[in-house]
Amino acid sequence: MRPIQMVDLKSEYQRLKKDIDAAVIDVFETAAFINGNPVQQFADALKIYLDVKHVIPCANGTDALQIAMMALDLQPGDEIITPSFTYIATTEVVALLRLKPVFVEVDRQTFNIDADSLRKAITQKTKAIVPVHLYGLSCDMQTIMQIANEHNLFVIEDNAQSIGGDFYFKDGTVKKTGTIGNIGTTSFYPAKNLGAYGDGGAIFTNDDSLAQKLTMIANHGQSKRYYHDVVGCNSRLDTVQAAILNIRLKYLDKNIEARRKAAAFYDNAFKNHPVIKTPFQADYSMHVFHQYTLVLDSDERSVLRNALSNYLTAKKIPSMIYYPVPGHRQKMFDSFDSLQYDLPVTDWLTERVISLPMHPELNEEQLSYITTNVLEFISNHLS
Ligand SMILES: *Cc1c(COP(=O)(O)O)cnc(C)c1O
Repeated sequence: MRPIQMVDLKSEYQRLKKDIDAAVIDVFETAAFINGNPVQQFADALKIYLDVKHVIPCANGTDALQIAMMALDLQPGDEIITPSFTYIATTEVVALLRLKPVFVEVDRQTFNIDADSLRKAITQKTKAIVPVHLYGLSCDMQTIMQIANEHNLFVIEDNAQSIGGDFYFKDGTVKKTGTIGNIGTTSFYPAKNLGAYGDGGAIFTNDDSLAQKLTMIANHGQSKRYYHDVVGCNSRLDTVQAAILNIRLKYLDKNIEARRKAAAFYDNAFKNHPVIKTPFQADYSMHVFHQYTLVLDSDERSVLRNALSNYLTAKKIPSMIYYPVPGHRQKMFDSFDSLQYDLPVTDWLTERVISLPMHPELNEEQLSYITTNVLEFISNHLS
């Protein structure tokens, strides 16, 4: 059996090696290191794939969030609502911009922002909501957009984990995640569903004036060279990374299909288990399985979860805890009185989630070895 990896970037490179090597060498030979043709080509291709009006490439997914928030003309102290159960980048940039992160609860099944908790968190100072499509499952964007419209709030979708996902509106409209709010952001970190071979990110919007602002902010606040109208930053997608992404984008749908197949294998193996809860699949979206995350529904909390993780490690099966500490319990947010938050579902999940290997290269032999070992450990542990 091939060694099992959490993500397997080497196998796909071996298959695409000819195309990727040629694209990268072309960048070197033309010496178009900064803003070379592949950058615009990739932005155009992604625009078509996502069916969105503007794609602004940038240096990484954290920058994408920061630039998105900088484009909204917010004042220090303005409140941004985000889930606590997310990667730190989402909430960190809020504090970095001297805005106030307001942490809300997630739903126990979907792991995504909970609508009631969101409604309760809205105040006079709330300016934006940042829903995170965690692990590859879209938030309920129909409800979130309705709440945002009622309260005149911006919506920035953190789509770093869900690129390629579809959201189905009740009227039959289908939209790609990240293109529903005012702005969407994503990351091309290598392990993401659409990864580069280094850092990268992008911002999407259908709003022409926001697109102009976002483009300026990512480029030192200028639209004409050396004339700087607003304070911006330097955030570019590297040409080499764009050349690689141009190739990998062509395989995104095929890779999502392979991820969904692996997820179906896991689902089937764990179905109706009293302790192992498999990922929720909503009727309003298509899950793209950036992660395959189980919840071990047991009073033993992290003791059981960590014991499983150790057992799997001994069997040479990698696993990960995304994320062991939620935002509101991170030291960096002490000054926001973050420990005052009462987020029992977030805490409950933090102690019980475990992500299994998930990537397009997993084969049935590996999947069966993983599921057999998980089931064996849990049943031995419970008996
Ligand atoms: C990966 C990720 C980011 C940040 O992306 P980087 O490219 O690493 O800066 C932001 N939000 C979420 C939810 C992520 O998973």
